[in-house]
Amino acid sequence: MRYGLFSDVHANWEALTVVLTYLEQENVDAYLFCGDIVGYGPDPNRCAEKIFSLKNLIAVSGNHDLAVIGRKDLDWFNPTAQQSLSWTTQQLKARNRKLLQKLPSIQTISNFTVVHGSARQPSDEYLFTITDCLETLHYFSTPIIFCGHTHRPFWFFTRGEENYFQNIENEDSFQLSGEKNILNIGSVGQPRDGNRQACCAIFDQEKNAIKFKRLEYDLARTQEKMLQAQLPAYLIERLASGV
Ligand code: ZN
Repeated sequence: MRYGLFSDVHANWEALTVVLTYLEQENVDAYLFCGDIVGYGPDPNRCAEKIFSLKNLIAVSGNHDLAVIGRKDLDWFNPTAQQSLSWTTQQLKARNRKLLQKLPSIQTISNFTVVHGSARQPSDEYLFTITDCLETLHYFSTPIIFCGHTHRPFWFFTRGEENYFQNIENEDSFQLSGEKNILNIGSVGQPRDGNRQACCAIFDQEKNAIKFKRLEYDLARTQEKMLQAQLPAYLIERLASGV
């Protein structure tokens, strides 16, 4: 089985379509999504409809997805995120809200677990460092866990008494050689690792290998739509810098 992995779309239609076209060309058997369909970007409905129409989709909810269906308090978010979430809540069609309500916050499929943040706090916890990863290790029992949320791709793994953590810079492929592996898939619609290109990955379950991919998309078009929707200037600008 080969899985197309993606996370943190954040209503960025241009980035999402580029990623899904690539994964389709790569002939993946199924899709694995780590949460945050909406928030920040200008196309929440279109992105939700597209994602929910994917065949063999395994998906979990992100903190932004929970906020727009009233399951997470807006006080939890910073002011620009709050503004975009209020706008998104108004825009969201009833049928898409219902689909978001059905998303679980954690899923375990054969040898891997899927969450947005961490196994300890599936929708909320940010994993940035080796220490963050170590603290959540006992909360999942599969050899692999996929997450998103920080918008910064990384690979953490344990081997014997040792622990390794590496940020994924640009494109990278490797064998998942650890006993326990935490993989952050980065972000499709709002990367924050200094690379503005949309991020996704392919997981080959038989080979136990993963390949990260970065893709250019029509950033100017997304920014134009955000401007028209009067979304916060800071959110429009940060797409170009990728931080
Ligand atoms: Zn996010």
